[in-house]
Amino acid sequence: MKGVVYDFKPDRWLAAHVAGRHIPALYDGPLSCLSLRTMPSKPLPGPKWVRLRPLLSGVCGSDLATITTHASPVLSAFTAFPIVLGHEMVAEVLEVGPAVQRVAVGQRIVVQPFFGCEVREIVPPCLPCSQGYPALCQNAAEGRLAPGMLLGFCPDEPGGWSDESVCHESQCYLVPDELSLEQAVLIEPLAVGLHAVLLHPPHSSDKVLVIGGGMIAFAVLAALAWLNTGASVVHSFWEPFQADLSRQFGAQFQAIRENSDELIERVGGRSYRPRFGPSVSVGGYDIVVDCVGSSASMGTAIRTVRPQGTVVLVGAAAHLPGVDWTFVWNREIQLLGALAYGPEANYGHLHTFEATMRYLKSSLLPVEKLITHRMPLHDYRTAIRANLNRNQYHAIKTVFDFSIQHA
Ligand SMILES: [Zn+2]
Ligand SMILES: [Zn+2]
Repeated sequence: MKGVVYDFKPDRWLAAHVAGRHIPALYDGPLSCLSLRTMPSKPLPGPKWVRLRPLLSGVCGSDLATITTHASPVLSAFTAFPIVLGHEMVAEVLEVGPAVQRVAVGQRIVVQPFFGCEVREIVPPCLPCSQGYPALCQNAAEGRLAPGMLLGFCPDEPGGWSDESVCHESQCYLVPDELSLEQAVLIEPLAVGLHAVLLHPPHSSDKVLVIGGGMIAFAVLAALAWLNTGASVVHSFWEPFQADLSRQFGAQFQAIRENSDELIERVGGRSYRPRFGPSVSVGGYDIVVDCVGSSASMGTAIRTVRPQGTVVLVGAAAHLPGVDWTFVWNREIQLLGALAYGPEANYGHLHTFEATMRYLKSSLLPVEKLITHRMPLHDYRTAIRANLNRNQYHAIKTVFDFSIQHA
């Protein structure tokens, strides 16, 4: 089998960390931690495991954060190397272990990538797993697998950037025939957005600000459109090429390169001048969803949310130097972190994947347009460059298309 492997080597990691921004080959070239390798395919890890042939496999911001060394060291306790990356995948079932009951060879599935206690065969399961949230599992460094929170970040199981992958049967969701492969490969990131919105659903009178122009921001817009709450949605992003899709995904107002004051004036706020530093505003949005996770986006979120409003952090923030937290306490802002899917308390306890598939079957949102780039696996360096230079490439979601490779 062939897969794109990330193998942590301290000297290479350090070179990428120090100079990768200027020499991107340190992220993905011959002297980087990343390479395309041919490996022997291993026996299934257990009787409840399934071997997969990925059909389409997505590139996620968390993959990029690993490659560009921006992932926080706090997560390194739950990660081991080398890993075959890739956790957004639609695949065909190639082989099933003897105890597999829920899926059969030839079926088309999407993978819920997180490894919870069930996958690690830990009994009794931890509290989040017992509630259906393996993404929040407390045992990601325990049990029979190497440390790793999810498929594509665990050395024992190759992820989806590979012509062969595996997962536990409990991670498989059958793809309905009505859905295209393109819709199916987007189920995982779309479910991330839907979960973030369902954690704190807006009321019809609410004003919501969505910050970001990447896949997760569009997933949040899709969720707001699907849930049809009646809330008014302002979408703040940086690159003009994102404007068209923003409208198609239901954002009523596009705020391109607007600063906090301009964003807050849109909802009737007022600006004041402090003794020094940038101006400050009062008023603001009921909910701000930060899909970027940078110092700038978090700063904007804190400055534009109303007193006692809610900031939802979906972007994979790590260290955020220079963020002024004053308004969090001074305006009693609720800060809510959002990671991933599970049975949704605000959606009849239906699993986020099921809810996402239900919407994909019935809604007219053009989610396939979010796939801006598709390429064979051996072009993985181009995929990474497209994501490092999203404005130049007009990239939102890049997927590896294994039919191109096999052609
Ligand atoms: Zn992801
Ligand atoms: Zn668990």
